[in-house]
Amino acid sequence: MMMTPRAQQQMQFLFALRSKGVTDTRVLTAMEKTDRALFVRGHFADRAYEDMPLPIACGQTISQPSVVGLMTQALQVAPRDKVLEVGTGSGYQAAILSHLARRVYTVDRHKTLMRDARAIFERLDITNLTAFTADGSFGLPAQAPFDRILVTAAAEDPPGPLLAQLKVGGIMVLPVGQSDSVQQLIRVRRLETGFDYEELRPVRFVPLLEGLGND
Ligand code: SAH
Repeated sequence: MMMTPRAQQQMQFLFALRSKGVTDTRVLTAMEKTDRALFVRGHFADRAYEDMPLPIACGQTISQPSVVGLMTQALQVAPRDKVLEVGTGSGYQAAILSHLARRVYTVDRHKTLMRDARAIFERLDITNLTAFTADGSFGLPAQAPFDRILVTAAAEDPPGPLLAQLKVGGIMVLPVGQSDSVQQLIRVRRLETGFDYEELRPVRFVPLLEGLGND
């Protein structure tokens, strides 16, 4: 039987994810349900199923699918979890999280990105996701504490307010390091007595910046 081009692209996309180490079936299913082409606009849309980061508005990027998959997998989201994502960008990562968690909050410092991402969330009828324009380095105190926190922009160190808004037993995954150099993806677990830090892999993300963007 012949496969449609879309089905074939989808199969190659999932194959690429598996070959890069994304093996968690819940994560793969969530990524299969989330069409990356919707989140990539303009002339890069036809490259949406390739495993590479792509430019979005406001000089930002939508992450490489395999990195999205590995970060989501490292976050170990359970179906009852309340999750915070810092760095909505295109909304792609948040949409994936919405399939895995009970409730997702996502924040970005750029109004333009927020407006575009919200339009897609509405179009996809995602009802367990709330998106705000805010400086995410302060977290989201009104909704804290969180079971899981995912940061998709690089800070030099894990921001204190985010550590404080993590539940005991909770997990945060984030890139740390100087911008423009190799950063480390780390996993932080909050224990009864403190925090446990684990280095996962080198990554490259745009920087976590202070304050709101002017667009
Ligand atoms: N997760 C996104 C990609 C993120 S790119 C996706 O799936 O497409 C990183 C994003 O972090 C950018 O959109 C940038 O505006 C945002 N960002 C940087 N610093 C921030 C901060 N302090 N608070 C909130 N968002 C921030």
